[in-house]
Amino acid sequence: MKKVLITGAAGFLGSHLCDRMIKEGFYVIAMDNLITGDLKNIEHLFPLEQFEFQHHDVTKFVHIPGDLDYILHFASPASPIDYLKIPIQTLKVGALGTHNLLGLAKEKKARILIASTSEIYGDPLVHPQTEEYYGNVNTIGPRGVYDEAKRFQESITMAYHRFHGVETRIVRIFNTYGPRMRLNDGRVIPAFMGQALRGEDLTVFGDGSQTRSFCFVDDEIEGIYRLLMSDYSLPVNIGNPHEITIKEFAEEIINLTGTDQKIIYKPLPQDDPMQRQPDISKAKEILGWEPKVSRQEGMKKTWDFFKTLTAEELRKTEH
Ligand code: NAD
Ligand code: UDP
Repeated sequence: MKKVLITGAAGFLGSHLCDRMIKEGFYVIAMDNLITGDLKNIEHLFPLEQFEFQHHDVTKFVHIPGDLDYILHFASPASPIDYLKIPIQTLKVGALGTHNLLGLAKEKKARILIASTSEIYGDPLVHPQTEEYYGNVNTIGPRGVYDEAKRFQESITMAYHRFHGVETRIVRIFNTYGPRMRLNDGRVIPAFMGQALRGEDLTVFGDGSQTRSFCFVDDEIEGIYRLLMSDYSLPVNIGNPHEITIKEFAEEIINLTGTDQKIIYKPLPQDDPMQRQPDISKAKEILGWEPKVSRQEGMKKTWDFFKTLTAEELRKTEH
């Protein structure tokens, strides 16, 4: 049985990757320090023989006894309010954590895939964003801790690939959503859905003309899996190219949830990118991948998930 180490395994994407790798017949070592994750996301896997959990901070030396075939490095705070709250940990997990895992990959001769992000393009001046675009990032702005950690992560990954011959993969993930997102992580979908559930008005930041392109988690995981199994070592965008303004998106959520809240406007956070849309030509050509789930279908599944939360969980996320 091939063995895979998944870091950030108790988080949103990490937990879906655990499910997928178990389904593909791997032995899964799930690692997390639970700084933004929740064991609830993976507790259904605990009884399985081909699954184990290690509570560990990957910025500290990572030791795995025996053979290891693959590493999926997904540990990192991922939402703007998380990485503003824990900026140093964000920098450390992108830099020191990635260094540790690349060292482990080298020692074990394992293939490693690292989770990069559309944020490495910053507030992009090229639209849609192709992998060749170098980005427009404010290094010293509040979001810089995340963006620069991820840019360093890509650089050190390519250095290990070129200098040490480690088999590396880099996925640039664009806004992904679905069940198991944390209701209070501040990202726009949990924020709007939490507000809808509590009967509060929806808070659009700025005038809502900024755009995003939202990818349903099942599509994202399929793209990541195909990239892992491919022989392509340069970065690949994986995201859904259907772009929408945040104001239109708030209106869609009001329609979906069938409640009668209003939209209210709050100041736009500093360096909030004005537009974001992946060019996925490379993923189509190299991986034969493109998203299949429409926003309507994906949002319905996500809303159904958030509706199962208890009144107690909802109360805890009130502002
Ligand atoms: P998440 O916050 O749900 O999951 C991240 C997980 O990493 C959490 O369980 C957290 O506890 C864990 N973690 C953080 N620091 C750690 C450390 N030092 N040691 C061990 N575990 C640690 O976020 P997510 O949305 O699942 O994102 C996962 C990865 O995907 C991140 O690397 C993120 O940058 C990347 N990404 C996500 C998106 C998205 O839209 N969800 C977009 C771009 C990139
Ligand atoms: N946003 C908003 N209201 C909220 C939360 C977010 O208008 O309550 C906006 C945010 O300013 C950004 C977009 O929604 O323009 C997406 O934000 P998110 O935090 O989900 O991800 P980002 O793509 O900015 O990392």
